[in-house]
Amino acid sequence: KKIIIAIDGYSGCGKSTTAKAVAKKLGYTYLDSGSMYRAVTLYFLKNGINTAIAEEVVVGLNTMEISFRMDPSDGSQQVYLNGVNVEEEIRGMEVSARVSEISKLPEVRSALVKKQRELGKEKGIVMDGRDIGTVVFPHAELKVFMKANTEIRALRRQRELADKGQQISLEKVKDNLESRDALDSGRKLSPLKKAADAVELDTSYLQFDEQVSRILQLAKE
Ligand code: C5P
Repeated sequence: KKIIIAIDGYSGCGKSTTAKAVAKKLGYTYLDSGSMYRAVTLYFLKNGINTAIAEEVVVGLNTMEISFRMDPSDGSQQVYLNGVNVEEEIRGMEVSARVSEISKLPEVRSALVKKQRELGKEKGIVMDGRDIGTVVFPHAELKVFMKANTEIRALRRQRELADKGQQISLEKVKDNLESRDALDSGRKLSPLKKAADAVELDTSYLQFDEQVSRILQLAKE
């Protein structure tokens, strides 16, 4: 029987890479909800949307279209904004620095949660984010909440950015992770928190394969 797997947690714990591997193993769809908040942020930045004005936010949301397509060369999921591949751009520090401000806006959250629920209508999905187990799919059959030591998260994220050609100091990467966690946990609407029925997974000292197999094991139970 196909299920919904919700993976939430702090920034930079390896949620996406883990979720992607779990989905691949199970033959499920993988959906990175953070990429949607990042795409909205990129669009708002590019179009100078004044987020203090709700009408502007709504117009912005209505003039953008987010879609996902598979890259046939390696099967990876790519995010498109109004038909343009923005996968690289949304991972940059400019977007990372602003995304938590944008993702606390009620208009943004309701539009994206609606889309996430539509995409999850068919079971057999792994979705990662901050509020998947608490808000988007409160009835998900499996909920995992990931956390990890901040130094380790920053080192991993710094390496990821370097692989994409962005050299960012460890201090900056760490500051970004910490400030996003603070904003994401502190916001009024759908704050980042562990769902009561989520299984906590501390990935500080786990090998990637161990992370994946723990979740696969839980999915079998
Ligand atoms: O997962 P990722 O780190 O790419 O998410 C970027 C940001 O998007 C988070 O820091 C958070 O502000 C926002 N987000 C959210 N709810 C989600 C997923 C992401 O608010 N379900």
